[in-house]
Amino acid sequence: MSFPLWLGLLLALCLLGIGLLLVRAGRGLRQKAGLEAGRTVSLDQVTLTSKRLGLTGRPDRIVRQGDSVIPEEWKSARTLRPWHRAQMGVYFLLIEDRLGRRPSHGFIVLGDGTRCRIENTEALRAQVLGMAEQIRAIRQDLATPARVFPKPAQCRPCGMLPHCGQAARTSKLSR
Ligand code: SF4
Repeated sequence: MSFPLWLGLLLALCLLGIGLLLVRAGRGLRQKAGLEAGRTVSLDQVTLTSKRLGLTGRPDRIVRQGDSVIPEEWKSARTLRPWHRAQMGVYFLLIEDRLGRRPSHGFIVLGDGTRCRIENTEALRAQVLGMAEQIRAIRQDLATPARVFPKPAQCRPCGMLPHCGQAARTSKLSR
């Protein structure tokens, strides 16, 4: 059975129209998700280290948007926590230190897909620099273990648990 030429052309035009609609829809979804026209330059491939700040980190994703570099971190948690913000603050400092560009913001992607935009504010920057300073001070005295106050759920999967004197143990763990 042969196809009439006009029918073939009509089919091709329809497919082209559907393709353009899909491209537009995909662009709309990316914009809604905060990605805009960015290009992924790293998917968990780049470890950033600053000896000057004593910080290191590996963003799950780094997106480039024009002159901007936007870090992204994926979490299984369904709620944004203060330590997620602090981790993003570390990435902001590392990107500024290593790549010479201060990100304006980043994204924490929660376990349910929610994208939380984190602004690179002076307050977050000061908080993370203060924490880094405290860690550097503690590291001066390596013979004295840093005091930590973990929750049992944090210690349970930790490989150091059998040897750690500061582990938080539940009655189930100490059996
Ligand atoms: S077992 Fe020790 S090292 Fe591991 S998370 Fe708990 S406190 Fe930290």
